[in-house]
Amino acid sequence: MKSKKGSFSLMKRMNINLIINLIRKSGSISRIDIAKKTGLTAATVTNLTSELLEFGIIKEYSMGASTGGRKPVLLKMNSKRFYLASAYISPMNVEVAVSDCGAEFVFYRHEKPFSDEFTPENCIDFIAKSLEKFVSQSGCTIAGLGVGLHGIVNSEEGIIVNAPNLGWKNVAIKRIIEEKTKLPVYVDNDVRLMAMAETWFGADQNIGDFAFLYVGRGVGGAVLSSGELMRGKRESAAEIGHTVIDMNGPLCECGKRGCLQAHVSESAMQKRLEKYSVTESVLNHESDCNAIVDAYLNNGDELAKKIIDDEIRFLSVGVSNLISTFDPCCVVISSSIKNFDIAVMEKLSQTVNENDIGRLENNCVVRYSTVGERAVLKGAVAAVLSEIYNNPAEFNAT
Ligand SMILES: [Zn+2]
Repeated sequence: MKSKKGSFSLMKRMNINLIINLIRKSGSISRIDIAKKTGLTAATVTNLTSELLEFGIIKEYSMGASTGGRKPVLLKMNSKRFYLASAYISPMNVEVAVSDCGAEFVFYRHEKPFSDEFTPENCIDFIAKSLEKFVSQSGCTIAGLGVGLHGIVNSEEGIIVNAPNLGWKNVAIKRIIEEKTKLPVYVDNDVRLMAMAETWFGADQNIGDFAFLYVGRGVGGAVLSSGELMRGKRESAAEIGHTVIDMNGPLCECGKRGCLQAHVSESAMQKRLEKYSVTESVLNHESDCNAIVDAYLNNGDELAKKIIDDEIRFLSVGVSNLISTFDPCCVVISSSIKNFDIAVMEKLSQTVNENDIGRLENNCVVRYSTVGERAVLKGAVAAVLSEIYNNPAEFNAT
């Protein structure tokens, strides 16, 4: 598979994404309404929908309601045209899924870590066997596979450069999976795929300039500029988790002191809990982050409040730094912690406002992700779809 820098221009890709998403969400829609809702010219809509019709990913449908004159022809997704596979190898488990080309999941399996044998070979074997099973049972054709991974991933070469929580370094994952599955494979960092999912499946798919910040075991970031992911020379652009916000702060996993990740990740919250006295709290030193948020929201627990307040304060610095550095239209927050949005978002937005007067002037919105569960898998589907539009001949979709 070639890189994204092919003949398929950025503008064309963005317009096609826009049209497909509108058709997908509307169920069926006329070309005239697509033009009205997207702001694209009628000629552009006609040209792009012709290509999509020829490709077979959309089809013409029954007649819509007439407004006088000739009844418009409606367009809808031809979702069963081909299927797309996606996989997520995280330090927690391996997930594998298949969706139709309308991005609806039709198959899903996951596996917990393979005890001490959490090797690339074991993970890939699980993915390949799961997909073989799906194909033999359904008789469906899979056009391509998108894989999300934690760590620094060179997406162009298909190599995991460094995945510290898996202990993998310089693994040519794309080549190994392609050999095993015989599918065209696209690999990328998990947080970048979450950001990609936001533009395809989130509430506002027209955002081209936005920053994404994920709070999980670590802190990940991604920045899209004019709809394109910023990657950097070593594929580590927007690693907001390892920007230093306090030179005298706690030690980070990366060896530096005071990284954002050392203040706001799940591990940072747990370390705070270990440090504080829990005698007056419903929490104990073994409570996880879900329990901390739950105690904050449902018990009015003072210790939980103290931890969440710290979380908001440090997170607001990270968000303000993203805004000052990249000038995005929007900062999207996501987290693996249950009800994190309810616990932090309102106060986080207020605190960022107080930190940064500039944000009020450029109307940068700070909001929580609307993609929901399985965001990495959804992003992997979006990435493969983008590659298919870019180079259809290289996929099994032709
Ligand atoms: Zn660090």
